[in-house]
Amino acid sequence: MIAEIIAVGSEMLTPYRQDTNSLFLTGALNDLGISVAFKTVVGDNRAQLTGAARTAVGRTDIAIFMGGLGPTEDDVTRECLAEALEIELKRDHSLLTAMYKRFAERRMQMPENNAQQADVLSGATVLPNSRGSAPGQWLDIEFEGRSRIVLLLPGPPHELQEMWKLQCVERVRAKVPPAAIATCVLKTALLPESAADARTAPIYKKYPNIETTVLAGQGQVEFHLRTTAPTLEEAQLAVDRLAGELEDELGDAVFSSAGESLEEIVGYYLQMRNATLAVAESCTGGMIAERITSVAGSSRYFLGGAVVYSSELKTLFADVPPLMLEAHGAVSKEVALALAENIRDICNADIGVGVTGVAGPGGGTEEKPVGLVWVAVSDGRKQDVVQRRFPGDRERIRRWASQQALDMVRRMLM
Ligand code: ATP
Repeated sequence: MIAEIIAVGSEMLTPYRQDTNSLFLTGALNDLGISVAFKTVVGDNRAQLTGAARTAVGRTDIAIFMGGLGPTEDDVTRECLAEALEIELKRDHSLLTAMYKRFAERRMQMPENNAQQADVLSGATVLPNSRGSAPGQWLDIEFEGRSRIVLLLPGPPHELQEMWKLQCVERVRAKVPPAAIATCVLKTALLPESAADARTAPIYKKYPNIETTVLAGQGQVEFHLRTTAPTLEEAQLAVDRLAGELEDELGDAVFSSAGESLEEIVGYYLQMRNATLAVAESCTGGMIAERITSVAGSSRYFLGGAVVYSSELKTLFADVPPLMLEAHGAVSKEVALALAENIRDICNADIGVGVTGVAGPGGGTEEKPVGLVWVAVSDGRKQDVVQRRFPGDRERIRRWASQQALDMVRRMLM
């Protein structure tokens, strides 16, 4: 069974409002074993909404419309659905009476416009709205020779979510064959996307029933696996089997298979080893510390450190000798190592990290181009230092560098 979610509202076609309801509904449908095949955002325009409704109902088993059920002129979802499906819109008198009563209780006159909220698609079941005035509607309909479900839900997220839980989940569950969706996300650090895909495609292509999506971002390639089966156990088994084969191929580049971020994994390892961490950051400007401290409980293993952007502060806060800076330059192997070693010493930490590089867009030279970064990690006995040339703009370079540093800490602790 496949679904389409249609968010109705011109505000969501501007840069200022986002359709977040569809995220909630996608999760809720997936929990019932239903895949979302399409998401559509359409403005409060009669012709466009009617067209979108015809398409959505025609190409899926469940079409869920949200928004545009209010009392105003631009709330046209009901009318457009009636037109698209060529069915009548009938005024429900018990709904209308209840609306008049609600207004009377507040000693207010009901504006005439509000009456349209009592218009119901012929054959639809009215879904009461416990958190607002616009009722939802559930319609079972034969359309183009097949039976479909059409749902109209209110736009405000708290109304929609409550209506879904109270009025829709069990109704939908009763309609769908038992099916469960299992997912697994494998996250890898510092593998180039093309290499990661070239190595894994021959494996995941053997499993056409498992949807595999490869997502790549600064220093991280993720494999999102997803499948449907009659029971969760079957679905999970299938996904776990493929995940296992991918992990065998990718080895220790995989840092997580349960959704954790790299900074969380580094935190686990530090706690497991009962070790502490300190950082001296130049080009990342505190990004490593920020990522580490975004994890709750990081005070147990993260001591702190320094942002040493200028040469003076590299000396003042991290004891980097001025002569070393002069001889090798701030962006150098020697300085990265000194930052890692000295901050470890100064903070009395078990592991120290030093990062120095050219984040750009200015400041690059032929010898030290934009994107050149040195990252060093030291535990006092063992030192690890690498030079990298990261691609992209300033933000991407800084993110790559922080990823490199965190992954080197992870590997040192493994
Ligand atoms: P109302 O009775 O409040 O008019 P409605 O069903 O007509 O309900 P809309 O008027 O379309 O809903 O939207 C009301 C508000 O709900 C919007 O201003 C917006 O903040 C929020 N909203 C609507 N659709 C969505 C969506 N898809 N995702 C997130 N928020 C939404």
